[in-house]
Amino acid sequence: MSESSSDSSIYGEESETVIPAKRIKGIFHTEEYKRNVIRKSKVAGKQHTNWRGNIVESRKTDDPCSCKKKCFSSLTTEYLQYRLSHFNNFKNKNEQDIYLQGLITVANVQRKRSMMM
Ligand SMILES: [Zn+2]
Repeated sequence: MSESSSDSSIYGEESETVIPAKRIKGIFHTEEYKRNVIRKSKVAGKQHTNWRGNIVESRKTDDPCSCKKKCFSSLTTEYLQYRLSHFNNFKNKNEQDIYLQGLITVANVQRKRSMMM
């Protein structure tokens, strides 16, 4: 038997020594928890307190637009709520971005308006 003494020093009890970092660990978990709460609230559009300590209101539909088309007048409140909750139910911001990108289309200008208005 040629047992090397270096083996025991590597795989011995000493290697299982846990670095006492309870306080740091605790802070990390709190930060991580807070980070997750903020991230999830943002995606879900829920009211939450951001990193600055300010309350961020829950996501809601904006005031009707004032353009000629009167876009909002053709939409019911139920429909807007439905679209909003659909958006809020995405798993993460990335999926929301992809969804929005899918709705945006590039259109050519059909008739250029005069700068004098
Ligand atoms: Zn409009």
